[in-house]
Amino acid sequence: MATSGKIGVTTENIFPVIKKFLYSDHEIFLRELVANAVDATQKMKALAASGEFNVELGELSVRIELNEADRTLKIIDNGIGMTAEEVDKYINQIAFSSAGEFLEKYKDQLSSIIGHFGLGFYSAFMVAEKVTIETLSWKEGAKAVKWSCDGSPEYDMEDCEKSDRGTVITLYIAEDEKEFAQKSRIESLLNKYCKFMPVPVIFGKEQEWKDGKYVDTNKDNVINKVEPLWARKPADLKDEDYNEFYKALYPMADEPLFHIHLNVDYPFNLTGILYFPKIKNNVEISRNKIQLYCNQMFVTDSVDNIVPDFLTLLHGVIDSPDIPLNVSRSYLQSDANVKKISTYITKKVADRLDEIFRNERQQLEEKWDNLKLFIEYGMLSDEKFCDRAMKFCLLKNTEGKYFSIEDYKKAIEGEQTDKDKKTVFLYATDVEGQYTFIEAAKNRGYDVLLLDCQLDSHFVNLLEAKVENTRFARVDSDSIDNLIPKEDRVKPEMSEKEQEDLSTIFKAVLPKDNEYHVHADNLGADAAPILITQSEFMRRYREMSAMGGGMNFYGEMPAMYNITVNMENPLVARIMEAASSHKEDLAAFAGDNEMLRQITDLALLANGMLKGKDLSDFIARSSKVVEDAYLK
Ligand code: ADP
Repeated sequence: MATSGKIGVTTENIFPVIKKFLYSDHEIFLRELVANAVDATQKMKALAASGEFNVELGELSVRIELNEADRTLKIIDNGIGMTAEEVDKYINQIAFSSAGEFLEKYKDQLSSIIGHFGLGFYSAFMVAEKVTIETLSWKEGAKAVKWSCDGSPEYDMEDCEKSDRGTVITLYIAEDEKEFAQKSRIESLLNKYCKFMPVPVIFGKEQEWKDGKYVDTNKDNVINKVEPLWARKPADLKDEDYNEFYKALYPMADEPLFHIHLNVDYPFNLTGILYFPKIKNNVEISRNKIQLYCNQMFVTDSVDNIVPDFLTLLHGVIDSPDIPLNVSRSYLQSDANVKKISTYITKKVADRLDEIFRNERQQLEEKWDNLKLFIEYGMLSDEKFCDRAMKFCLLKNTEGKYFSIEDYKKAIEGEQTDKDKKTVFLYATDVEGQYTFIEAAKNRGYDVLLLDCQLDSHFVNLLEAKVENTRFARVDSDSIDNLIPKEDRVKPEMSEKEQEDLSTIFKAVLPKDNEYHVHADNLGADAAPILITQSEFMRRYREMSAMGGGMNFYGEMPAMYNITVNMENPLVARIMEAASSHKEDLAAFAGDNEMLRQITDLALLANGMLKGKDLSDFIARSSKVVEDAYLK
């Protein structure tokens, strides 16, 4: 039998269209052809398993053979094969009768239509100037048939010699696509797309080092050696299996913290394994590592329209035939199935963390510092996740102890509730830099949290909104009495003029590049003479604007500090008394007053604000004070 005819396409010629519109994605032809070959072997397996037919399965496999010199690439399978009628039906006619009209309408999305409308096989013409199919069906008495087509809408079909069951697709790679006739290119494509396919995909022979060069052994080089762990039952797997699989996926990464095995078959099909990676301070590095598969065939590693943004920080694989893979990105987000899948994954992630919180608390605490950024990001960006996470999110104090939010609130409520009945969560962002303030708070019997992560300034706002009757205050944002005011204290009584004078005196000896608000308070005779703090409100907004929170107005302002002068301190009393006889030129008086300079510099030093010439003047002055005290 020899026939020829016109492929059933109503547009004049489909091939230029395929070439033009699929330009960016030429490499997927190999994925499509290998997927067809794998399908054919899987169908064979299903036939044998049904027991209805007496078929010899043999060892099912898909082979890829490349001849670099001839620029031919063969995809060979021992699957079900096709009869001449089937070739006619599936290759010649297929959905093409309606494809013409369809193509006109959806030109822009053509790459997305591939696969859905039986264009999978035709994607071969993106890289080949001629394609042949030689195939022998599994059916008894079937005759082998050869189909060939050179890229025009005309094909030829004839009988051929082929004794073993299955299909050989031969691509004659076009001159301008010759990269696809290179061994290294094909090998990397197979590794990308076929690593987890369910039958062995063989490309050439394994090589060994012999007499100073690599030579072929007689062992087949199987691309998909790694077992797709997600397709197995969680009950059969140990932690080591999950860790090993992670290593195979990301050879360079640190060990993951925890994993989740996903497995659902209603109302959609999805399996997969997600890992919580160690996230240090760089969120971007961790992003977009999840690989999306469809029946064990790699599709993409950008899942950003399928899972909520914060989950793109996870690593691992998702395999689902229910995600419409070949549609435009904007369409994906509105797809009902994708929405369900996204909700499901978010819920599973929260479930798993909740379970770890309940059953593996110690592990959670040990790994918290590496997990924290992920959880906070999730809480800040996903309301539903946030509501769940309020239960398992941990807070760490400056002594390295961990608490749940609820437990922490209970623990501090007694001591740290202010006169307005608000519980005040004190926190530090830098244990070293804020040491004096942390100690002062601890001496009062208060506890101090450590919030030193990238997102913490936003996180603090979130917690204030979520936990009723609470307020957050950084330890160095005010004097200890004002951080958690217990009752209305008696403030020093001062006239406006006196206030102004106080301000003039202290501003004269403070560094010029900041702004100050000087005010008097009674902190007790034993407390330090001066306290330098930065208002919680201003500082938070400056930090958030520095992170790009859209509040540039605050970011551009000079830093603003509160200077609390403790009027009950005897040194301050002495200075104020001396000042009273220099009312006409307070600034000059202050500039020359060594005691004033010394106490101000000490306060600056405690805040790490004493620098350059001021610091060296301070050291010289202090040396003199020491000499006076000990040598005279
Ligand atoms: P799709 O795979 O999306 O159906 P294709 O154009 O890739 O579209 O293939 C059309 C049909 O041709 C397949 O559904 C299958 O029936 C048949 N086919 C393609 N390749 C093979 C093969 N290697 N072995 C057996 N049948 C095949």
